[in-house]
Amino acid sequence: MNKSSVTVIFFCICILCPGQSASAQERDAISAIPRVDVHSHVGSVEQMGHYVKVAEVLKDQHGINLAAWIDLNFMRQPDGTELQYLNAAANRFKGRFLPCINDFKISDGLRFSPDELVKWQEKGIVGYKIWVGVSPLIDVPANDATFTKMEEIGMIGASIHISQPYPTKWCEDPVKFWQAHNAWERVLDRHPKLKVVNAHMLDHFNSNEQLDYLMYVLKTYPNVHVDLGARFQQFNRMDRDKLRKFMIEYADRILFGTDIGGQPREGRYEEVAESYRRAFQLLETDRVIKGGFFGGTDTRGLALPIDVLEKIYYRNAARLYPRVKDVLRDLGYIKND
Ligand SMILES: [Zn+2]
Repeated sequence: MNKSSVTVIFFCICILCPGQSASAQERDAISAIPRVDVHSHVGSVEQMGHYVKVAEVLKDQHGINLAAWIDLNFMRQPDGTELQYLNAAANRFKGRFLPCINDFKISDGLRFSPDELVKWQEKGIVGYKIWVGVSPLIDVPANDATFTKMEEIGMIGASIHISQPYPTKWCEDPVKFWQAHNAWERVLDRHPKLKVVNAHMLDHFNSNEQLDYLMYVLKTYPNVHVDLGARFQQFNRMDRDKLRKFMIEYADRILFGTDIGGQPREGRYEEVAESYRRAFQLLETDRVIKGGFFGGTDTRGLALPIDVLEKIYYRNAARLYPRVKDVLRDLGYIKND
């Protein structure tokens, strides 16, 4: 081979693989971003052990740092084991599981009085999860004292679930869909200081028009945020460029979450790690990914910029929930910033 053909081959390699080492570097930088799953249903000390095993698979096989979980199921464990849970979460698991009190049935009124909120906050609870579903009941006047107390003590509404995806088998009636959303807006109007992460992208995540409405809500209510829990399988229901633009524009208001529950258990760690990987890849790459966290249709990823990913993966969570920043620092993922 003469000198000029070596030059030609070298030139071709450079043309075919532009900036490959830089993009490998960027991929490493993205993998290293710590991730907080703000929408999880862990619920017991035993289950925490299984979750950590999934995180170990992600770390060992893919260099991915799944750091912490906001647990919406703290109160669903057997009575009398709360203290055991809180101790294990704080000590054995280094604070990686951050518990929320919860209320999965509000038809008989909100479960916690203003005084009880204060007591739970003192015990280390980081938020109040409320499940509403397709119902206007969130706007019952009797709830106001609790919301006012949440504003006062800075307790976040954690993955508050309003309505259901429409039109789907979960909600086929547009009137009921909107009644639930309108009721929630009235609550937000009366409680402008209430900090909230609404679950499932507020279930305005099924069409371009719904995404427009979600933008209106985020513009109108600066203390409202949304989590991605169980919505990766719906990315393909909106125009990709529109969704990508939305995620970049509202990066300060969107949090990573999956709606994971009892899936992590012995023999299934790799499978659950793969579910997480699909969700991450939908955000990080522009490849066609085979389904979201819970499977579903093949969808092209959004290839979001690294600063946007950082906000979605942990910066917003660190700003909104108590202790997340300390936990990430203690684990060595962030410095004193
Ligand atoms: Zn959930």
